[in-house]
This record gives sequence, structure tokens and C-alpha cells, in this order.
Amino acid sequence: MASNKTSKRYISAEETSSKGLFLGLVAVTCLFICLFLVSLWVIPYYGFDAIHPWAKWIAGFVIGSALTLVLWASIGLLLNATTGKYLPFFKKLRGVSVKLFLPVMTLIGRLFGISKNKIRSSFIRVNNELVLSEAKTYKPDQMLMLMPHCLQNSRCKIRLTYNVRNCKRCGKCSIAGLLELSDKYNIHLAVATGGTIARRIVVERRPKLILAVACQRDLASGIQDTYPLPVFGILNLRPHGPCLDTLVPLDHLEAAIRRFLDSDYYPEDVDRSPISVPPVE
Ligand code: SF4
Repeated sequence: MASNKTSKRYISAEETSSKGLFLGLVAVTCLFICLFLVSLWVIPYYGFDAIHPWAKWIAGFVIGSALTLVLWASIGLLLNATTGKYLPFFKKLRGVSVKLFLPVMTLIGRLFGISKNKIRSSFIRVNNELVLSEAKTYKPDQMLMLMPHCLQNSRCKIRLTYNVRNCKRCGKCSIAGLLELSDKYNIHLAVATGGTIARRIVVERRPKLILAVACQRDLASGIQDTYPLPVFGILNLRPHGPCLDTLVPLDHLEAAIRRFLDSDYYPEDVDRSPISVPPVE
């Protein structure tokens, strides 16, 4: 067994390395920002030609490439969300859109007094449109229904995190209805108490599509974390406020299941006509 001294040494080594990484990143970020700010003064003052004969062409190329990338991603996103059509290479830029635009949009939105949740809701809606526009269908074992723990009735003492089938289906919360959907369509249902457990479930199950129910914050961060895996997000209902006895719009979830499930795997008694999924509120 490691002595107290040894474990303290390990802990302090670990702390030093994580602190070192953080401080290193702060220093590098600071250096880049300072260089950028200094260049805003130096370049107009001395002019590109005084720095190097190629400087204006190199700067033009770098700025032009960055502009093209941002414009391509923005136009591609607008076109796809409104018409469902793709620009060439746009699928590769979806990552830029998902990872870059949401944080920038959140910052800009805050400047204009738009709440984070409004911005996240619109991001989830656009993300859903993008996932729908890929028009893929999946087998039941390629899909995962991922639910937050706050759906469980707060007075219910049954532990669901490791096995949602421990639920006695008393009907006092949405878990009973979710299990019915899971049985009907043969799709795995999991309940996660937080982001770490949710990530672990995704790594273990390796789904091709996730149907996730959560609040705006958890859905937006889950969509970003799991990119490029497609996540179709559905907002939970919060009649008692956040994180307490929340509800799932089961009809909305079932519509999404039927939209993404290969119709060969529909249960016998289900109508096979095409179905549209209601948008995020
Ligand atoms: S439906 Fe299941 S999880 Fe919900 S309160 Fe009843 S036993 Fe508990």
C-alpha cells in the first residue's frame, strides 16, 4: 500500500501537471492576443512592404481563407436549415458550425440581451434540421434513447442509473411511458445522472443516432460533445422548475423514433405512413 507521503507526492504531481497545462495555455493564448493587438498598430504604422515584400500576400491569403471558411459555413448552414440542400464540402464544415458558431453566437447574443436558453433552443432546432436533412434511417440497435435523471419522480427510491428496467412502471413519472416505447420499438433506453455517465453510455453502446431528452443547456453541450455523432434533441417539460420531476413529450419522442427507425423494424400494428417531427419549442 502506498504511504501517505507517496500518495501526497502523486497528488501534488498531478495537480502541478494540470496547473502547468492550464498556465501554459493561458500564457500561449495571452501571447497570441497580444501579438494580434500589436499587429493592429504595427501594420498600419509601418505598412506591409516595410515588414517583408511578401507580407501583404501572405496576410491576404490567410485572411481570405478565414473569410471563405466563415462565409461557406454560414451560407451552408442557412441554406441547409431553410431548404435542406448542401453546399459542396458542407458536411465537413458542420463541425465548424456546431463547435464555433454556438459559443460565438452565445457571446454576441448576450451583448444584445438575448438569453442563453433562447440561443441554445435555436441552436438545437437548427441542429435537428441538419440531422433530419441527412435523411438516414437506422436499425433499432443503432439507436439510443438517452434521458436525464430528473425525469424520475423525486419520491421514487428505485435506482435507475445502471438499469432503467428496475422501474416498477407505477406510472408516477415518464419512465414508465419511455419503457413502453423502448419495448414497442426495441430501442435501448438509458438514464444518465450527468454528462460523464452520458458519455460513458455512448462509448459503451456505440449508437449511430442518439435521441436525447434534456434541458437546453445539457442538450446543447451534448450535441457539441458527441459531434460528429448525430443527436436529435427534444426539450424536456419542466412544470416544477429545472431538474425536478421533469416530463418527456412522449408523442414528440415517438414521432422522432418513427422518423429515424427503418420502417422494416416498425411493430406490426404501427401506421407506416411518413411522419413529421414537431420542432423544438
Ligand atoms: S414509473 Fe418507475 S421510476 Fe417512475 S415513479 Fe414509478 S417506479 Fe419510479
